[in-house]
Amino acid sequence: MAIDRVLEQDVVYPPLDDLVDQANVTDFDAEYQRSIDDPAGFWSDWAQRFEWTTPWSSVFDAQFPHHRWFVGAKTNITANALDRHADGPRADKTAIVAVNEDNSSTRYTYAELRNLVSRFASGLQSLGIGVGDTVIIYMPLTIEGIIAMLACARIGAIHSVVYAGMGVGALANRIEDIDAKAVIAGDVSMRRGKPVDLTGNVYGALEEEPVDHVIWFRRETQPQSKGEIQFHDLIRDHEPDCDPVPVDAEHPLFVLYTSGSTGKPKGVVHVHGGYMVGTSYHLRSFFDVKDDDVYWATSDIGWIVGHSYIVYAPLVEGVTTVFREGAPDHPDPGSIWKVSAEHEVNVMFTAPTAIRMFMKHGEEYPQSHDLSSLRLIAVAGEPLNPEAWRWAFTNILEENGYVVDNWWQTELGGPTIGTPITMSAKPGAAGVPLPGVEASVVDADGMHVPRGKGGLLVLNRPFPHMMRTIWDNDARYKQYFDEVPGDVYSAGDVASMDEDGYISILGRSDDVLNVAGHRIGTADVESALIVHDAVAESAVIGIPHEVKGEAIKAFVVLMDGYEATEATTKSLVQHVRTELGPIATPSEIEFREKLPKTRSGKIVRRLLKAEEVGDDPGDLSTLED
Ligand code: ATP
Ligand code: MG
Repeated sequence: MAIDRVLEQDVVYPPLDDLVDQANVTDFDAEYQRSIDDPAGFWSDWAQRFEWTTPWSSVFDAQFPHHRWFVGAKTNITANALDRHADGPRADKTAIVAVNEDNSSTRYTYAELRNLVSRFASGLQSLGIGVGDTVIIYMPLTIEGIIAMLACARIGAIHSVVYAGMGVGALANRIEDIDAKAVIAGDVSMRRGKPVDLTGNVYGALEEEPVDHVIWFRRETQPQSKGEIQFHDLIRDHEPDCDPVPVDAEHPLFVLYTSGSTGKPKGVVHVHGGYMVGTSYHLRSFFDVKDDDVYWATSDIGWIVGHSYIVYAPLVEGVTTVFREGAPDHPDPGSIWKVSAEHEVNVMFTAPTAIRMFMKHGEEYPQSHDLSSLRLIAVAGEPLNPEAWRWAFTNILEENGYVVDNWWQTELGGPTIGTPITMSAKPGAAGVPLPGVEASVVDADGMHVPRGKGGLLVLNRPFPHMMRTIWDNDARYKQYFDEVPGDVYSAGDVASMDEDGYISILGRSDDVLNVAGHRIGTADVESALIVHDAVAESAVIGIPHEVKGEAIKAFVVLMDGYEATEATTKSLVQHVRTELGPIATPSEIEFREKLPKTRSGKIVRRLLKAEEVGDDPGDLSTLED
């Protein structure tokens, strides 16, 4: 399956000298080569920095589909994320800055955090929860949500965070799928200054799927039912006497369901050992985080970015991690920049959907705050349109910092393809395979497609922080390896690789357009549209067409101040024709107030398509309302 690239990618931004000089990894090529030539040496060198109660007998036993890392070793990720610091020189260092939506904040040191986690973990043990038990966490983005995760990890229980805001069905499905023994739930989350009730969803889900224990984090003074277990009572009533329970390196740390952009979410399993080693490695080498940095991932604990890069990797590495509950543009569109300036954030991790929102609000917001400490913005989750890259580089960083695209998936745990700060950026291309990763672009027979052509993105070898299986569904796990011949992992995305080895993500393989014999990824057309001044956001789909097979239909959200007129439509069509040529020109444009998205902010094209052709849209449980 060859795919045509229609978007020219000609602008290259050289790396910034100041950033290259201070980089944690200065010789990327050498680093990469060693990771490929000597993976055992490479990963075990990094793993030495951690505490293992039992050493490994071999670094890996790694052949797709199944792979194991640090075989025979025992550890607990919280021994490394908490005790290693709380018992050492970082005891009084700020581990977490918890920011509320009104921008007030609370700081927790490593010693304080360990104390809270240890108390809560003792509380969980007092309920009979222990190694291997599964716990659903349905909590707002709060310190309590993070304590819940770390406490489960500490006692060897397996957590599964469900984004607070998922509906009854999604919550009940996940309780059932992992056979949860307990649910830790909040009563409200805060969004745009208002409490959003979660209790209704919890009661609804528990009615369908009862569990042994429910622990409530009540922030509102709502009526409580008798005998209800309160989150803060567990903390208050227990001593900080729960040491981390050593578990096998391959013991599951958590199950996290994928975003559901393309269908039913999959329960991805990550483990204590390899996940700790791999995600922390990329925090240092790819995100280039230093010991004294303040680091902010604007995600939520409900997503993989929140697991790996709000919670685990920054704490494992003993740095200061920031989170903020609520909408990034509330109380006003400059809130995110106000918080960045106030806490002197050095490295930020955000999503294309957020950048597009900032663009829509306008450059005056970042520009009216002192963002001089910010040197890196990493962006992942969807294709980062070149226009969004340029906007962030110019208007947020004022060309004094770097924007790095990075591609990965819930399944992969951490950055997999990306542009290291020592390399030139090519907006529109995610970058190159990162250390430990071997990636290729192939056709359905597994043969490499020529450079510049699109095909299926596959990974040729495992790495420590890649998922181990799909929870209770190893057959589903094996499907990732059945798509393409050879023992390779199919990502489900289409991509192309250029002469320099840079990989561009062209879209989901399910969404590929097929116009007059040309197969085109959605990202190229959407990126061309977004260059137009009138366009804030767009999604394209193929609709059946008698002659061409498919014609392109574009859904467009306009920038403030633009009108959905005939003239706008004409101008957009003409613009895409000039940018991409006649093949990729939309034959229809529909203006929308907003696009359907998952709760994690990803455009769901399959819903637009189903509406258009009258098909069943499939699983919509993760859709934003
Ligand atoms: P599901 O697998 O349930 O359909 P999902 O794939 O959206 O949901 P995630 O694991 O959250 O679930 O997202 C991973 C996907 O996000 C990737 O497969 C890719 O399509 C997209 N993605 C992530 N980062 C990038 C990036 N930097 N550029 C382009 N696409 C990206
Ligand atoms: Mg996916």
